[in-house]
Amino acid sequence: MMSTKTCRSETGDPLLLTPGPLTTSKSVKQAMVHDWGSRDPAFIELNRKVLVDIAALAGGDGLVAVPMQGSGTFAVEAMIGTFVPRDGKLLILINGAYGDRAVKIATRAGRAHVTLVTSEDTPPAPAELAKQLTDDPEITHVFAVHCETTSGILNPIADIADVVAKSGRRLLIDSMSAFGAVPIDAATVQFDALAASSNKCLEGVPGLGLVLCKETVLRDCGGNAHALSLDLADQFLALEKNGQYRFTPPTHVIAALSQAVAEHAEEGGVEGRHARYRANCDLLVEGMREMGFETLLPDDLQAPIIITFKMPRDPNFSFTTFYDALAARGFLIYPGKLTVAESFRIGCIGRLDHHDMAGALEAVRDVMADMHVTSGVAA
Ligand SMILES: *Cc1c(COP(=O)(O)O)cnc(C)c1O
Repeated sequence: MMSTKTCRSETGDPLLLTPGPLTTSKSVKQAMVHDWGSRDPAFIELNRKVLVDIAALAGGDGLVAVPMQGSGTFAVEAMIGTFVPRDGKLLILINGAYGDRAVKIATRAGRAHVTLVTSEDTPPAPAELAKQLTDDPEITHVFAVHCETTSGILNPIADIADVVAKSGRRLLIDSMSAFGAVPIDAATVQFDALAASSNKCLEGVPGLGLVLCKETVLRDCGGNAHALSLDLADQFLALEKNGQYRFTPPTHVIAALSQAVAEHAEEGGVEGRHARYRANCDLLVEGMREMGFETLLPDDLQAPIIITFKMPRDPNFSFTTFYDALAARGFLIYPGKLTVAESFRIGCIGRLDHHDMAGALEAVRDVMADMHVTSGVAA
């Protein structure tokens, strides 16, 4: 039972109901109290093992996990630059901000690209993708976002991968907000590369991007990258040679990731984590709907990652007041990022369980009462 009106993490911090950075366990944070020499055999082994374990989360076979220092975008930028050759052409599937970001990355990298845009609440239709690939034989690669965190929509990655494979093109996936909690198996979903991060569903601390690559394909990508630091082929070869990073690795982040991956396995791997996030999501959506709130997405398109709620129409509702009052009770939520509707978002990933979600709902109920808002029903 939630007995108080504030809720805190194991270390007394506010709970981050956001898509990253997100709440991590105390033991993950404690893994960072040591200093590691980057050329020390103990660190080299820790790093090697964590990368092998992470590649195994997508089936492992023929895959290598190549780390990239930085936030998730660094990994996405490295993936596009390394895998799309300079004379390649990228089709970018867009239904949110992360698809838009890939356009900016391709533009900067000087890679020819075209787009297939759908609304933020609509996944791309496989038939339309197939048609665009047939109509434009110059397209060599397709970029798709797995869970588009802008809305929380789960894009049909297996169907997209089928179409791309059947047309003889290659797929790059931004699975940043899904990897580790939404199952994907490289044996059945064909892709050349998939970008993820130490934070988000792996529940490590932010600071390391990860690109799961088909090793044979990666070995053919030398010389593609437009940026030295973002060259995954070069990064892979250096690590293969002596286990060392080309440039300073975030040693503490990697030590925390190693602990986070062990905790992921203890929870039952991708399936176990998915089950907890699913339960968090269901509890949150049900409780919010009881208060009248409306989700942007129908349940069958909703990934159990982050939920977009439409802004209530009650004139007494103020998002700033709502946000601040929830923060004062220990819950940090996320503003909306949509163009289709005024909205806000509540995440259900990170070290959060049903007690935390129940606490969040209680806090929302209290804050609504304080604002004299009787229903969360949208405009
Ligand atoms: C979080 C996220 C990223 C990376 O964002 P950073 O702020 O660079 O960590 C990329 N794609 C998606 C879908 C994401 O959710």
